[in-house]
Amino acid sequence: MLSVTFLGTSAARPTVERNVSGVALVREGETLLFECGEGTQRQMMRFGVSFALSEIFFTHFHADHFLGVIGLVRTLGLQARAEPMRLYGPKGAKKLLTQALQLGVERVPFEIEIEEVKPGMVLRETGNGKRDAYEIQVFATEHGGGSVGYALREHERRGRFDVEKARAAGIPEGPLWGKLTRGESVTTDDGRRMTPSDFVGPNRPGRLVVFTGDTRPCASVVDAAQGADLLIHEATFGEEEKDRAKETGHSTAREAAQIALAAKARRLVLSHVSARYSISAEELVKEAREVFMETAVAKDGMTIEVPFRD
Ligand SMILES: [Zn+2]
Ligand SMILES: [Zn+2]
Repeated sequence: MLSVTFLGTSAARPTVERNVSGVALVREGETLLFECGEGTQRQMMRFGVSFALSEIFFTHFHADHFLGVIGLVRTLGLQARAEPMRLYGPKGAKKLLTQALQLGVERVPFEIEIEEVKPGMVLRETGNGKRDAYEIQVFATEHGGGSVGYALREHERRGRFDVEKARAAGIPEGPLWGKLTRGESVTTDDGRRMTPSDFVGPNRPGRLVVFTGDTRPCASVVDAAQGADLLIHEATFGEEEKDRAKETGHSTAREAAQIALAAKARRLVLSHVSARYSISAEELVKEAREVFMETAVAKDGMTIEVPFRD
């Protein structure tokens, strides 16, 4: 199972309807947090996102993306958390997050590790060991200050075992099936040698979920999001404010759609919308769908399941 829950979908400041940035990704029971704007911990409680997480990924250090980490860490401390936590962010993360975490507490009662990332890095390890069956890729975005985005890419899965074919070839159900599935050749009781490629289909792709954070539309996002099952792209403005989007390092909904189209993504979800779209962001969806049909706009509390392609 892989799902994404939007905790905050407003740009720059919270509104009555929307909190500032925060996205929880839950994969096989593990929770990862992307951004942690002010009030994120309360959004987690409201929308049933577990506090048992060990990693938070920051795309850049504008206030609306990270101030919530101060309160969240304090709450976790009060809950007597013992497990370490790892925070990731671009250049400056160590200094900024260290300062932020020192606010309002004598000391944090559990270990927090801060890792500075840069585009091209692949995060295969967590604070607690190796990532199981996926990796996090860091890519460049265009928002100034070394901003980055993150792509969660699952490893390929083994091909399907063709049960009918195995039965027809007289291979008895049992350990031999298991060996063939794992890619090992086997010999039947009557001495016939069987190779896995005859019974196991080609490897099947894993899923790809891409989170841009704030950015102008850019080629590095298109590259990172090639064939993405889900692209979460910021869309702060509509077409009528496209000049403002350019001046402030943000994207319009239409520009986000052009990125999704160029990347041949399966699905686009817009987030980080300006306060004027807080109540209804239908205008943004309409503009984006003229370019890329499979578009939705996030709202706080929305959860999206990301299925396998096959
Ligand atoms: Zn922002
Ligand atoms: Zn920003």
